[in-house]
Amino acid sequence: MVDLPPIEESYDVRATDKKGMGMFATRDIKAGEYVIIEKCGLWRQEGGTKRMSLRNLIENFDALPLETQARILRLHAWYDPRAIVMYRDFLNFLNDDGSRYSLEQSNRYIHLALIFRANNFELYPRHRQRDGTIAPARSGIFIQASRFNHSCDPNVYWNIGLIPGYFLGIATRNIGRDEELTISYITPRPPRQERRADLDTSWGFLCQCDMCMGEDSLYDQQLEEALELQRSVAEQEKTGGIEQYILQEELDRAQQEGVLDEDESFRTRLERRCEIVDELGWLPEQFFSHYDAAVYYNYRVFRLRMQDEDDTETMNRAFMHINEASRTGEEIWGPYDVKTAAARNYRKNMFDGLVKPPEQSEDIF
Ligand SMILES: [Zn+2]
Repeated sequence: MVDLPPIEESYDVRATDKKGMGMFATRDIKAGEYVIIEKCGLWRQEGGTKRMSLRNLIENFDALPLETQARILRLHAWYDPRAIVMYRDFLNFLNDDGSRYSLEQSNRYIHLALIFRANNFELYPRHRQRDGTIAPARSGIFIQASRFNHSCDPNVYWNIGLIPGYFLGIATRNIGRDEELTISYITPRPPRQERRADLDTSWGFLCQCDMCMGEDSLYDQQLEEALELQRSVAEQEKTGGIEQYILQEELDRAQQEGVLDEDESFRTRLERRCEIVDELGWLPEQFFSHYDAAVYYNYRVFRLRMQDEDDTETMNRAFMHINEASRTGEEIWGPYDVKTAAARNYRKNMFDGLVKPPEQSEDIF
């Protein structure tokens, strides 16, 4: 168990233009700062039949204080017609004693199930416990953290497994007051169509984030500017300096060929971020940039393996980046910090071949 740091209030919930409610910074937040530490508000056991999962969800919900129930029922629900039909069908046969729910009760539980579906996170997968027995998977919702909107280039890193039952949200870069706080619901990766299809199937929305709309990221602009500023100061003292644009050749080639492959531009952006923050010596940003790059390369490893292609080079990149993240984490926060532990954990799972890209599923529950 790691110590939970005290956190300073930094956000509120506001209406957005297109995405319903969202989380917004109420002050400047520094890279590496915790923005939220929240205990799971409602969980459900997975692994049995869908009907059993629904029953378990209803039992757990009914056991909550009324005020918590009311807060949960105000969260965003995904009105998927197929799911509504299925839940109504389950509810008709749910009670062991053969009694039926009233229409009002049914509607309330269907609403609950739709909310759970739109907002749930996996708390932990099915796993073998120390005593050898199998613990079924659990998923849950976090009432506050449910208000985070998705971005494929988020400014908040989140983690659930490290401290069982808690959602941790940490700023991955400096965030200005009134900026929206976003997390990624999926492993950020190219191509865009695949990401968007994944989000559409699992959460019922088409992503409109900057990365999906092909717009330049504000963060990348800020990094380039900061680098230029630092270099113009340094230039006065020395000439030459460190290697500029290590990936420039690659970019030039891609542009000559007339296409900047989406995968290539995604990778270039991640590498460029690492390069800049390394040079700037921005430690928390270094940690998160290298972590992001490791996640991306690890995702590529799985894709290559699926196609029976050689993955050595990509795997080496993945390990290089996660090692860099772990090392930076230790340097800034020490070995027992949650973030350092997250990187170490990710590295271990990479080593064991356990980190897999999310599977696309037709399963609608
Ligand atoms: Zn997106």
